[in-house]
Amino acid sequence: MSQQSSAALKEMDRQHLFHPFTTLKTFDSTGPALTIVSGSGSTLTDSNGDTYLDAMAGLWCVNIGYSRPEMAEALAKQANTLSYYHAFSGMGTDLPARLAARLSDMAPVPVSRVFFGNSGSDANDTQAKLVWYYNNVRGLPNKKKIISRQRGYHGVTVLSAGLTGLTNLHEGFDLPLPMIRHVRPPHRLWEAEPGMTDAEFVAVLANELEALILAEGPDTVAAFIAEPMQAAGGVIIPPAGYFEAIQAVLDKYDVLLIADEVVCGFGRLGVDFGTTAFGMKPDLITVAKGITSAYVPLSACLVTPKVWDVVMAGQDMYGGFGHGYTYSAHPLAAAAAMTNLDIIENEKLTERAATVGAHMHRRLQEEFAGHPNVAEIRGQGLVGAVEFVRSTSPMTAFDPSMGFAAKVTKRSLAHGIVTRALPAADTISFSPPFTTTEDEIDAMVAGTRRALDDVVKDEGLSG
Ligand code: PMP
Repeated sequence: MSQQSSAALKEMDRQHLFHPFTTLKTFDSTGPALTIVSGSGSTLTDSNGDTYLDAMAGLWCVNIGYSRPEMAEALAKQANTLSYYHAFSGMGTDLPARLAARLSDMAPVPVSRVFFGNSGSDANDTQAKLVWYYNNVRGLPNKKKIISRQRGYHGVTVLSAGLTGLTNLHEGFDLPLPMIRHVRPPHRLWEAEPGMTDAEFVAVLANELEALILAEGPDTVAAFIAEPMQAAGGVIIPPAGYFEAIQAVLDKYDVLLIADEVVCGFGRLGVDFGTTAFGMKPDLITVAKGITSAYVPLSACLVTPKVWDVVMAGQDMYGGFGHGYTYSAHPLAAAAAMTNLDIIENEKLTERAATVGAHMHRRLQEEFAGHPNVAEIRGQGLVGAVEFVRSTSPMTAFDPSMGFAAKVTKRSLAHGIVTRALPAADTISFSPPFTTTEDEIDAMVAGTRRALDDVVKDEGLSG
């Protein structure tokens, strides 16, 4: 693209596109940071012809890499055969049925039915409606509250934005809705007392959850929602025994567990599901992102027999389940998911996420360990994170208004690397496609380390 047409495109974007999660006033004067025009594997190309290694697989989602011909062929074939038909009123199409069966087979818990949506957000809204319906059918109309965790990310729709435990998604929108509560996340760095063992920390968090349920009244608390690994809130890996302790409390008070597998599902942690990685026993599972590697929007709610049997019992009361999207069970999305899952299986990409991930963690340690502004290097499978602080002794965070991690990601772009700042934790994250090579990982990590050096120098720090 010529420089002139690239500039014209950016100006068109600046004037017309309402960007999600963007500081609008700044954008209004600067326009887009990059205009990406093509992608292949882990590489993105912008309108100036510059290339970037995408260490984030888009937004934790392009797990098989960009622009794969098999995906284009599968989508073209489906579009040429049946571009759309719906699933309302018992109608159906073939690929969504096949996909639902396949997901039930591969799910980490027994699954009775699969409900399809279009995004992680709308799927979590569906989960909430399932939970409320479940308790209405059981004659427990007051049992409706949903407990989530600070720093959890569950979406942006009116309900799911409240489940998300990040205040910038609430402010200005009168959220969360009144039936939502939050508890502390299992982030040892800031939430555990110095010297606490994992077992002690886990016991404290489980006791806090129990105290909240008792304070609210167990007859009012319906569900607890959790990402196996909290992604957007800072890449927070639960300490050993965390979900076992939490689940014991949930079971005691008849509270359902919703596992939000939107990032972890389909191999991101080097195993099929985060549920398996951390010993969760959910009643409902939400998947999205990696189900199609983001070639086409798709999400799904996996419903276990415990919930499904009650939904069925409710049919006599409510005459149906009054819920569904025009695009629920879209055949094009199902075609993308089937081919994406074939690629993951045939190329053993989940196993690859584990081995390339192990290489990435080694490289992150080599580049960042011991740095005076690095508090923690963490991650699992093909997710990594580096959390920054002003000082490690005593542990002192940067002033959040400084946006330290955001400065590092901005500088990384100048070195041709796309990482992501997670402002809630002053952390940068890595979540590259599973197909990324070790050489590309080396370039991602080294480029980010150079970016850190730049920022340390710019800010006059001693690093
Ligand atoms: N849950 C989790 C764990 C997520 O990471 C996200 C998106 N980052 C969502 C839900 C929301 O998904 P979407 O943006 O597709 O609505």
